Amino acid sequence: MIGEALGCQIDPGTKARTPSVITHPFEANPEELEIPTDLLERGRIPVVMEAISLLSNDQGLQVPLVAGIEGPADLASYLCGIRYFLKMTVKKPEIAKDIIEKCIDACIICANSYLHSGADAVVMADALSSPEMMGPDAFRKIVKPSLIRFNENIRGHSILHICGETDSIILDILECGFSAVSIEENVEDLKYIIDSAHRNNTAVIGKISTVDTLYRKVPEDVRKEAFRCLDANIDILAPGCGLAPETPLKNIQSMVEARDEYVEKRFRFKRYNDNKN
Ligand SMILES: [Zn+2]
Repeated sequence: MIGEALGCQIDPGTKARTPSVITHPFEANPEELEIPTDLLERGRIPVVMEAISLLSNDQGLQVPLVAGIEGPADLASYLCGIRYFLKMTVKKPEIAKDIIEKCIDACIICANSYLHSGADAVVMADALSSPEMMGPDAFRKIVKPSLIRFNENIRGHSILHICGETDSIILDILECGFSAVSIEENVEDLKYIIDSAHRNNTAVIGKISTVDTLYRKVPEDVRKEAFRCLDANIDILAPGCGLAPETPLKNIQSMVEARDEYVEKRFRFKRYNDNKN
């Protein structure tokens, strides 16, 4: 979305395929990247702002309104090309850091406009920050300072989603000031992540497998996995990553029903114990 506003061409995808970025306008000249003053009037950002404002004025809306933006490393890879940007983090880290700082400026402007339009929270997805993509050291040196600045400058709740095994950078993520972190199903030590987050007063969101379970399996499997997540003390039950197109609706419904069933059981047990004492 921000990438498009900064000049990337987008393949809108189909019902079976998610949209993708097809051109990288700053691949040849990354130092020329500047965030335009009319960013919020570009691309589909105005439409998103209007949609947020319509939804937030809907009195019947019973769920939190969460607006999505790309994170700084993803945005940098859209603008410069993924391979070129990853190479830059190794060979020219100062330039990579400079680009990340400009990208986070755009993220701050966009996030504040979505929050101002009525979003309850902004979720930032930054797949490239995954240890499987850029490596923990580059994340710490190049991306982490920008995420701290992001949270110092936005007025509202923020959530960070990073794909893959985020165990090695979770403590760094927790120092960035997000209200919640969203994790995938393949994190190595879930208890360590949840305990660390809770000590830091940060909520954990996740982590039902989007491909193996939500896309491929049946509602009963979703229900079982949902219960396992809730038993592990996940604060907000959700898919572990972006949903695949054509994920069966009944599987998503099963996730929500499992959450309700779990909460109901827990409170019934609590009432039973309260009455006993
Ligand atoms: Zn993910």
